[in-house]
Amino acid sequence: MSHRPRKRFGQNFLQDVDVIARIVGAIAPRTGECLVEIGPGLGAITCPLLRSAGRLNVIELDRDLIPALERRCAGLGTLIVHQGDVLAFDLSSLSPEPGSLRVIGNLPYNISTPILFHLLGQREWIRDMHFMLQREVVDRMGAAPGSRDFGRLSVMVQYHCEVTPLFGIGPGAFRPQPKVESALVRLTPRPCPAGRADPVSLDAVVRAAFSQRRKKLSNTLKPLFDRPALVAAGVDPDARAETLGLADFVALAKALGR
Ligand code: SAM
Repeated sequence: MSHRPRKRFGQNFLQDVDVIARIVGAIAPRTGECLVEIGPGLGAITCPLLRSAGRLNVIELDRDLIPALERRCAGLGTLIVHQGDVLAFDLSSLSPEPGSLRVIGNLPYNISTPILFHLLGQREWIRDMHFMLQREVVDRMGAAPGSRDFGRLSVMVQYHCEVTPLFGIGPGAFRPQPKVESALVRLTPRPCPAGRADPVSLDAVVRAAFSQRRKKLSNTLKPLFDRPALVAAGVDPDARAETLGLADFVALAKALGR
């Protein structure tokens, strides 16, 4: 039975066999690893992952896809289906060892940023993550200070993870075709995030600093710091957020002292 892709679930199914093989090759799944796929859809990457790993957890919101998915995966290995919203999914329910889960997904682009933040909050369980995302989101994740793409997503993802953009994927690899270019990215949680700032303080500082990116920090951070406090944290009050490095944001989060 054919499935009509649902826009509200961000359904753009991978169909290019060469691209699928390249993605699975970059992930290089092995027997015995604990793999979790977000949004398996009709199984484009699920089937080859299952064939290599022998066992795979999947989290899928659209219950109508699940019978076809199970049929396609029959005989390839143990498929464990969690029907529901990944944004409400607790990775620790899979009883993983800390730092063991390999998370994979051609993510629904409409909610990719909330999914990333949800997973960063559970990073202690994760060994690595491979995601297909809008190329623009991958560019923002990997952006360096001073670049146009550097923002809240760059700081928060780089604080928690090493970011490795892998390769671009054109719209023709999907059905239906998205309007944007895509890319595969690898995120590897750092064993010990740079500087160990309190994540709530870091989030507060980064949100405020980038709330109006053209304004000086003395303005955007006024609710949190006066000028002397910024100077004491080693930050120029007349600078803009996009010129600060990760270490500066960590210093500010520590100075906030929450
Ligand atoms: N992995 C398939 C592929 O590559 O062909 C499908 C990818 S499609 C871009 C995104 C998938 O995520 C869909 O199967 C969609 O139903 C599912 N999805 C959307 N929102 C979700 C959510 N909140 N939680 C879990 N799955 C979700």
